[in-house]
Amino acid sequence: MKEQTRMKSRSRRRAGRRAYDDAPVGLALISSEGRFLQVNPRLCTLLGYTRRQLLRTTLGAVTDPHDLEFVGSNSRRLLAGEVDEIRLEQHFLRADGRPAPGRISASVATGVRDRSFACVLELDEAGERRLSGALKGGDEIHSMLDDFFDGIVATDDNGRIASFNRAAQRLFGYQMGDVLGREAELLIAEPYREEFAGFLAGWMRPGRDATATPGSREMWGRRKDGSAFPIEFRATRMLLGGAERFVGILRDISEQRAQTDALEYQTLHDVLTSLPNRTLLNDRLHQAILAGSRQRKSAAVLIMDVDGFKDVNDTYGHHVGDQLLQQIALRLEGLLRGSDTVARLGGDEFAILPALGMGGDDGATTAKKILQALQQPFLIDEHNIRIAASIGIAVYPLDGQDAPTLMRHADAAMYVAKRARCGYSVYAPRQDVPIAAHLQLEGELRHAIAHDELVLHFQPKVDLRIGKTIGVEALVRWQHPKLGLVPPGQFIPAAEETGVIKPLTQWVLNRALQQSRIWLDSGLDIDVAVNLSARNLLDPDLPATARELLDAWRVDPGKLKVDIPEGSLMAAPVIETATHLGAMGIGLAIDDFGTGFSSPAHLSRLPVREIKIDRSFIAAKLGQVDDSVLRPIVDLGHAMGLKVVAEGVEDQGTLDRLLGLGCDSAQGFHLCPPIVAADLTPWLRHAAWGVSDGTQPRRMQ
Ligand code: C2E
Ligand code: MG
Repeated sequence: MKEQTRMKSRSRRRAGRRAYDDAPVGLALISSEGRFLQVNPRLCTLLGYTRRQLLRTTLGAVTDPHDLEFVGSNSRRLLAGEVDEIRLEQHFLRADGRPAPGRISASVATGVRDRSFACVLELDEAGERRLSGALKGGDEIHSMLDDFFDGIVATDDNGRIASFNRAAQRLFGYQMGDVLGREAELLIAEPYREEFAGFLAGWMRPGRDATATPGSREMWGRRKDGSAFPIEFRATRMLLGGAERFVGILRDISEQRAQTDALEYQTLHDVLTSLPNRTLLNDRLHQAILAGSRQRKSAAVLIMDVDGFKDVNDTYGHHVGDQLLQQIALRLEGLLRGSDTVARLGGDEFAILPALGMGGDDGATTAKKILQALQQPFLIDEHNIRIAASIGIAVYPLDGQDAPTLMRHADAAMYVAKRARCGYSVYAPRQDVPIAAHLQLEGELRHAIAHDELVLHFQPKVDLRIGKTIGVEALVRWQHPKLGLVPPGQFIPAAEETGVIKPLTQWVLNRALQQSRIWLDSGLDIDVAVNLSARNLLDPDLPATARELLDAWRVDPGKLKVDIPEGSLMAAPVIETATHLGAMGIGLAIDDFGTGFSSPAHLSRLPVREIKIDRSFIAAKLGQVDDSVLRPIVDLGHAMGLKVVAEGVEDQGTLDRLLGLGCDSAQGFHLCPPIVAADLTPWLRHAAWGVSDGTQPRRMQ
């Protein structure tokens, strides 16, 4: 029994050896340093070396120098265990110096002490024709075919499986016996069977040139268990056992396919939000335009930019900024229908491509819906973050006939919306002019600062107890050579985004303190308040700048107030700068109080002296908003030991109610609108609510 087994294994070994020696492809065992350890005769013939010569040389020596690095790096990956096998298209260098294109497949050899790899080397010149010639028949064929990494399936004239190598068995889960004599279509999954049958029939046709380039195609294979998997399929005909056979060389490309799918996904989607990216959006827009022109339907595209996103990033860090973008993406997706595309174009820019048939009006409705949804604060890492957005809308075919034009016009409309702070804007041809407005704006603003195109208006702040002005707020405007007087709402956001806010604030501080000096010199003893942006508070140079200017104009720090937007108050660096300013003696006020989410705990950590209730709570609304809304705000301020200032007082009735609520001071058109210093000086001297002359304080009730 034992003897029998031994003989069997010996004969199997001999058969294997023969298959190795007779193999029509080059076979080799190569050491980890690239030396040939074993080579078969075919390899010697293919490369034109004797066996001894080859055994003294290396794979590198028979590789075209151009491919050396490529082959080297892949072999290293194989030896490092990063991949199980490699299959490379490469050029070999034959003994006569001629390069020959071919392929090398290799896997790490098992059972060899040194980490070597077993290779199959094919040179195109030898071709598959030789392979066929060399195959003689029977078991030998099978054992020979078993040397291949690829599945090899040969059929007889009727398309029935005649040979099925080991790799094919692994691939499909069938044993040789399961499939011999059965139709090859068995191995192909729907819906590819028909195609395959036709293909096979074509190959079987008598007279077909057996040496024709086989070519390869991709289809789906079907395993014994019924599961399908992508395969690459190369077909050829060869002489097997004296008969001409159709031979399919099959390779599982699931991994490759998964990789290409992943790659495709990666190139078409935004990593952070998983939304389609600009490339995919452009493609979809292009498709929408084509479909729109066929079906005579309109197609709208909306471009949305998050206002003040940079601030969020600067204030809370990129980590929070990233999460904000993800949440925005989710909100947008939740809001829109499955047939709409939501894309992230990059940064804080998103685009929405609604389903076909949407015009400008529907676009506006969608924009409103989006803006409304974004109004709800975002809760990220315990921060309540509020954002706003600007949306531009362009509609095919009215606003453009192709994707790039539509995108450009939606972008232009978006910038119009941003500048006007109106939420959204539908493209209008005149918007073409400021297309690059956002780019220009930065340059223009810098120019404006350098050329004194900015002007300060001042608005008095009246102490309600004495009915007299105790301070003024400096509000910047841009005296634009073409556009006239531009309000700050139209350029401060851009200044914040571009960083121009730094020189701008410096300009404002300088002018405000200069004016303060003038008033103080003329006996008008009032404070001057300057507005700061969140970004200013992230600028560590700010306290030093303020110090220099205070010194230059010889103004007591106690005469300077700064208004800090409530929304900026959470970040540690902001608190640090604010604390620094406070320590210098500068008065801090929280601007737009009630619109952000500062907690008493936060406020108590800051040297704040004042809260300014946002005018949205005061102007017009006071009639509608009952005191139960305002009173807690006023009381909270007082409980924290802060003065409460009401902004936007537009009529006497409002003023009376604010007095009743116990507000400390007020600003508003009713008292005095913001005006230039030259006009304000006489007002301060002579108006009823002007500066106290030290005599009779006037009660306001
Ligand atoms: P703010 O600090 O809340 O300024 C008050 C705004 O309310 C001013 O608008 C003022 O003109 C307006 N206002 C005053 N009284 C009334 C009223 O009775 N009713 C109504 N409806 N509005 C009134 P303005 O000048 O357009 O400034 C808007 C915002 O721009 C300011 O809001 C401030 O946040 C910002 N800003 C202005 N100047 C500067 C500056 O120099 N630097 C920075 N960073 N921001 C500034
Ligand atoms: Mg202010």
